[in-house]
This record gives sequence, C-alpha cells and structure tokens, in this order.
Amino acid sequence: MSKKYQVVKGFRDILPPESKLFWLCEKLAREIFARFGYQEILLPTLESYELFARSIGTDTDIVEKEMFIVQDKKGQNLALRPEATAGVVRAYIDGLSNQGPAKLFYFGPMFRYERPQKGRYRQFWQIGAEAIGYPGPGTDAELIILLDEYFKDLSLKELDLRLNSLGCKQCRPAYRESLVSYLKANQASLCEDCQRRLNLNPLRVLDCKNETCKAITKNAPSPSEFLCPECSSHFDRLRNLLSSQKVSFQVDAQLVRGLDYYTRTVFEFQARTGLGSQNAVVGGGRYDDLVEELGGSPTPAIGFALGVERLTLLLQEKIHEQDLISGPDLFLIFAGEKAYQFAFKLLFRLRAIGIYAEMILDEPSRSLRSQFKVADKVKAKAGVIIGEDELQNQMLNLKVLETGKEMKLDMESLKKMSGIDWEEMKSHLSTPGFAFASPEYEQTLAQNQALFKLLKIYLIQMEEQEE
Ligand code: ATP
Ligand code: MG
Repeated sequence: MSKKYQVVKGFRDILPPESKLFWLCEKLAREIFARFGYQEILLPTLESYELFARSIGTDTDIVEKEMFIVQDKKGQNLALRPEATAGVVRAYIDGLSNQGPAKLFYFGPMFRYERPQKGRYRQFWQIGAEAIGYPGPGTDAELIILLDEYFKDLSLKELDLRLNSLGCKQCRPAYRESLVSYLKANQASLCEDCQRRLNLNPLRVLDCKNETCKAITKNAPSPSEFLCPECSSHFDRLRNLLSSQKVSFQVDAQLVRGLDYYTRTVFEFQARTGLGSQNAVVGGGRYDDLVEELGGSPTPAIGFALGVERLTLLLQEKIHEQDLISGPDLFLIFAGEKAYQFAFKLLFRLRAIGIYAEMILDEPSRSLRSQFKVADKVKAKAGVIIGEDELQNQMLNLKVLETGKEMKLDMESLKKMSGIDWEEMKSHLSTPGFAFASPEYEQTLAQNQALFKLLKIYLIQMEEQEE
C-alpha cells in the first residue's frame, strides 16, 4: 500500500467552504483599502534571517524560538517570514523611498514555530497595512478607523480596541529604568524567561503570557506616566480624533506588544469571546525608528497586522458555512443524446455571459430523476429541462427548484418575454395560469438576471435548431 501523506504539524489546508470565508475577508479588505488609498505590495515569503533579527529584535519570542530558518546552498541563513513589516520596510527602502510616503497593504501567509492550538498555527495568514512616511497622529487614527469600519462591514461587534503609547527614544529610558526597578523588586517570582529579559528587554516582560508574571506586571509603572510633551500630545490628539469619529477604545497602560520596533502608538483589537487566550485579532503600532535602523533615511511609520484565521473563527460562529455555498443559477437537465448536445452548447453560452450554469457532463445517459437529485444537492436555483418534447415542440421548460414551480413557454411567449421589456414581462407573468405570477417569484426574477439571459440565449439556440 502506498504511504499516506499528512499535512505538516501546525500547517493547515483551508478547504471549501472555509476558503470562501477567507476570500470574503480578503475581498472586503481590498475594498476598504482601495477607499482609504492603500496600495498592494506583494513580497517574498523568504527573507534574510538578519532582517528579522535586526528589526523584530533578538530577544523576542519570534526571533528566539519561533522562526523557520533555512540555509541556502551557500550556507546563508534565510527565514520564512514570521511577519511582513520588516519585509515591507526593506522593500520600501529599496524601491519606493525616493517617491516619498507610501500607504501599502498586503495579504499572505506568515510562519512561526509555535505550539499549535485553536487560533495559533505555524502557518497563518495576515492582512496588514503600513503607512510609511506619515508622522501621525492623523494617520494613526486613519488606520484604526479603517479597521473599525472593516469590522463593521463584517458585522463583528464584539471586539475591543486597546490603545497605549510607548513613548520615544527621548522618554523611554526613564520609563525603562522605573520598570526595571519595579521588576527587580519582584524578580524572584518572575518566570525564567522574564528574569533573563528583565535586563535585556524589560518591556517584553509586560507581554509575557505566564499568569504569575501577568499578576506582577499588572501594577507595574506605565509608559504613559513618562511620556515627553511631544509623545503626550501625539497620544492626546489620537484619542481626540478617534473620539470625534465615535471609535470606542480603552487605554491599556500595560499594552506593549511583543516586538522591539514599536514607538509611541500601539494598539490591539481583542475578541471578547470565542478565541480563548488567542484573543488578539489585530496588533499594530508606530515604528518611527525602524526605517532608519534598516538603512533608510529617518522616516516615521505605522502599521497593523490582522490574523485571518482568528477572524474567520469569529465569523464561523455567526455565519453557517453552508450558507456561503451558492449553488448554480441554472442546472441543465437533459434526456437523451440530442438533448445532451443542445444542453452542452447552452451551458457554455450561459457561462460566457456570466451565468453560473451546471450540468452533468460525463454521463449522457443519466436519468432525469437522478439529475434532479444532483441539482438539489448542489443547491441549484432553477433547472432547465431539455428533452425530446422540448426540442420537438420548441418549448422552454423551467423549474424553480427552491419552490418547485414550473413554467413552460412556447416560442411565441419566449420571443415576447425575451424582449427584456420588464413591463411586458410582468404582464406575461400575471397571465392567468402562469405559475410564476407570485410576488416572490417576480422578486427572484428581478434579482436573478440569469433567467432573463437564459430566455434570450435559449431562444437563439432554438432558432438555430430550426434552421
Ligand atoms: P499572540 O500574542 O497571540 O501570540 P502576537 O502578538 O504574536 O499574537 P502579532 O505578531 O502582533 O501577534 O501578529 C498580528 C496578528 O497575527 C495577531 O493579532 C494574530 O491575530 C495573528 N497571529 C499571530 N501569530 C499567530 C499564529 N501563530 N497563528 C495564527 N494567527 C496568529
Ligand atoms: Mg505570538
């Protein structure tokens, strides 16, 4: 027996219909980015290891433990990107910085060697945006408002926005000093990692997931107490701008985010329920020094990254995936070889004009009954029945599968109706005995241009038969 292959641990196949949810999230994000003036950037998934070590910081979980590192044939260390900001900044410096500021977005997979659990995978997808060359705080507000609108578009209300300011190069040292002395007083109770971090990167202690560490850091000094006047007014103005747009937020004095490069504004959107401890759906912040640190000229910037799997997990609670499956507009049902040939031609004509049409292609002798069964199974909206009778007597025989109603039209009525004169169509619809003369069907028909188009194409094809 041949070997059965399994997906790599922590990696996932995103199968239909879940893939449709992904697509929906991407589609809505693209629409909103377009309205807000963000342009797409497509980046490689592999970058030099140093790029991440330098930007994210060597003492972060990501660089210390979570990177997928590969060596090329020359022994150069490369890494599968754990996030995209570093790559965006590298690409900006390389190819865009001479054009001034840039508002960019991306969509793609990221890789982190983490313990897989609900909402945490080794390959996961992010939708992100970076505004490079914008000092803020107007742009900080713009990005947050963009996310707020996006969640409204997705009807997700149970998300809390947490906001903080980490200060800048000028005011951070004083805060750091005070934090270190607070943590030192509690050093013995901190986890091993945090004891080490305490001297190397004390801010990271605030981001630790260990419960004891969390309890200690709850009362730690907050960066906001140390902000210099510039950072302070930046933060005030951001809060005012958000309030003026009725975006609600909570200032979270201990929110620091896990990466080294953040300055001033940091924020997270957290789910109130449904994701357990993987509750952060979006993480974002300002990184005013990163462009310079990676070799560019001093350029302020801000960005965010949103975890698509966490978003779809939230959406799955609201949307039944089955409802995402929209069946064919028309299912062509044939009886016999001649009808198959007619249906085959009709099928591609309908598809060519934008109709989602289906038929059973591979079994020309399948019974009508079993074809109807398939049409029901795939949730087709209507069935077009093509048999000897229909072909000989020049008829259109249509069945709306949702309601079971049937309509039979001869060539004369078909000609009249396919004139696409809605008023005339309506009068036909209300002729006595016409099975479709119900308001709900009229609505279906008005919404479903497919039937309109079908009438025309069917007529043309029938006329061709005649010749
Ligand atoms: P967490 O604290 O949950 O580990 P993080 O701070 O490491 O998150 P970021 O680096 O800010 O996450 O990434 C932004 C977003 O990407 C997160 O808010 C989350 O939605 C998503 N994300 C991060 N890591 C993973 C993962 N391993 N699997 C799935 N989604 C992830
Ligand atoms: Mg993490």
